[in-house]
Amino acid sequence: MTRSKTILVALVLAVAVFAVAPVPEAAPLQAGVTAIRAGRLIDPDTGTVATDQIILVAGGRISAVGRGLAIPTGATVIDLSKASVMPGLVDAHTHLCMQVIAARDHGSYYYTTLNDPDAFRAVQGTANARTMLEAGFTSVRDVGNEGNYACVQVRKGIMQGLIPGPTMVTAGRIIAPFGGQFQLQPDKPGLAEPEYAFADTRDEMVKAVRQNAHFGATVIKIVVDDQRYIYSVDDIKFIKAEAARAGLKLAAHAWTRAGAQNAAEAGVDSIDHGIDMTDEILSLAKKNNVALVGTEFLVTSDSFDGAFRTQVVDRLRRALKIGVTLVYGTDVIAAVDGKTRGEVAISGVDPWVEAGIPAPAILKAMTTEAHRLLGLDAVRGSIKVGQAADLIATVDDPLANIAALKKVQFVMKDGRIVRQ
Ligand SMILES: [Zn+2]
Repeated sequence: MTRSKTILVALVLAVAVFAVAPVPEAAPLQAGVTAIRAGRLIDPDTGTVATDQIILVAGGRISAVGRGLAIPTGATVIDLSKASVMPGLVDAHTHLCMQVIAARDHGSYYYTTLNDPDAFRAVQGTANARTMLEAGFTSVRDVGNEGNYACVQVRKGIMQGLIPGPTMVTAGRIIAPFGGQFQLQPDKPGLAEPEYAFADTRDEMVKAVRQNAHFGATVIKIVVDDQRYIYSVDDIKFIKAEAARAGLKLAAHAWTRAGAQNAAEAGVDSIDHGIDMTDEILSLAKKNNVALVGTEFLVTSDSFDGAFRTQVVDRLRRALKIGVTLVYGTDVIAAVDGKTRGEVAISGVDPWVEAGIPAPAILKAMTTEAHRLLGLDAVRGSIKVGQAADLIATVDDPLANIAALKKVQFVMKDGRIVRQ
């Protein structure tokens, strides 16, 4: 551009700005600012409540929060002055790209993996992601069973704004000893792949972690103990170190006592299920900063009996008493008639209530502790300046009765209203 043209453009711009500026003396016009009047603002980390708060949201983030803040002229005002407002929820054990159809799949997800191609599983993941968000889950950790990275693609779609959904942490292919979670036949050994990445030797473990990282996994998930040959403490430590080299945390499916023992000793980031954990193993988990994602929702499934229910509820109670970090994770995989995936996932609070876990501790497991486990806490999970505007509201007070979360009336994700 020549110098004279530059001057001309500058002049035109100056005139244009002068012509449209309304020259107000009052509060500056701030387009794109949302102001939320929060009657009761809950901080799940401390279990405390601040009343009559104003939350200002700009550019998807919380720009100010406090009592009596001036609402900028032109701001969109959302009145939640009669509601409880809190950070969005987390389900730390989802399988959004799997939908078991009981009648078709004989209740077994092995058949589901054979019946549904990856493309359709991404469609299911897309639908499930939306309903999870609508139910109030603004972040999830999806722990695999997504075929060939179907959920990684769903996550990309959400991040690009193509589809609505929670912030997703995705595991890609679950790493497991030969067979994964299936019983295979010798003439069809390939039926469990790509659902699982079999890794029995150290070379295979390195490769499985690196392939996952390469293809977009943002957490590594292993199955410790669904075969007779389970991962040893050294195996798990080895995988953990390789995952850490790629900047990824490690989630460990451990169903048995021996599996949980090895996972706790190896210091994984989370033990998922942890059905048969003694007080000693729970104490070891606490000592090694291992979170328990107990998937208590499973007790509501027809696949398990009353003894299982007693065992899981008792384990949750003991975990709380010992002081293990509790994180909410459901493990919903099946379709339920007339209910969305999100509506089913929130029903996972029932066994927590049954175990006598105080409502503030449940809410903390669903928000603060969960965001921490997912590695998102620097940017999400609390209503503070600079954090992403992921928040929900309920009519009733979840600190008095956690079931209030079953009726989330308002959901905001990254500053956008999802539900009102
Ligand atoms: Zn699971």
